[in-house]
Amino acid sequence: MRFTEEQIRRYSRHIILPEVGGKGQERLLASRALLIGAGGLGSPAAYYLAAAGIGTLGIVDFDDVDLSNLQRQILHRTDDVGRPKVESAREALQALNPDVRVIPYKEQLTSANILELLAEHDVVVDGSDNFPTRYLVNDACVIAGKPNVYGSVFRFEGQVTVFQPGQGPCYRCLYPEPPPPGLVPSCQEAGVLGVLPGVIGLVQAIETVKVLLKIGEPLIGRLLTFDALGLRFRELKLRRDPACPLCGEAPTITQLIDYEEFCAVGP
Ligand SMILES: [Zn+2]
Repeated sequence: MRFTEEQIRRYSRHIILPEVGGKGQERLLASRALLIGAGGLGSPAAYYLAAAGIGTLGIVDFDDVDLSNLQRQILHRTDDVGRPKVESAREALQALNPDVRVIPYKEQLTSANILELLAEHDVVVDGSDNFPTRYLVNDACVIAGKPNVYGSVFRFEGQVTVFQPGQGPCYRCLYPEPPPPGLVPSCQEAGVLGVLPGVIGLVQAIETVKVLLKIGEPLIGRLLTFDALGLRFRELKLRRDPACPLCGEAPTITQLIDYEEFCAVGP
């Protein structure tokens, strides 16, 4: 592709980086990232990925904007309350960078639709806030062989890692079983510091760009934890579990399952 004058100026600080350059920027513009959720993690991640010129951003979110979201979900504005999150997200991102094609998916992510969505994208940014979705995204990414840039936040703490099928562990290697329902409270129940998902979502955005450009040392096999109150980052080594039912040596999960039932929150 050939850059327009405007694109050369817009992406000039990328283009002068030897690790990115014109070739790297072309690659970003041709890339497609799928954001799971336009919430606390998806908002900062999507903003920076759009600014960086990731050419296509698919955004899956079934929810409408609620006033209680605005404390941290910076894609949405006060006037957006009551509107679909994917719509306010699309407007905000296209206003930031018209080069970016934002594809809104206002639907529940399920075993029935996720593989089709993954086929259209190069990388997944998981900003979901519940266990059924995390296991679903994990399993689908392993099955489809797509990198999953994972983040989560809770109160004052966050975690981020990259699950790259074939190169490191998956979410099930860490957490083979979901916690019993009700044991881990949600953000709605436990609270979350509004700025915290900004930190974690931006680490996810950095890792997404690195994965797309194949530069640097991605967070594969490493879990970065962040404690906002102590202001400490820590890194834990993660190993692939040879007995993992999904990515281990003798997998027992070879297709998607019913994740609501697996996490025992369904009927
Ligand atoms: Zn695994």
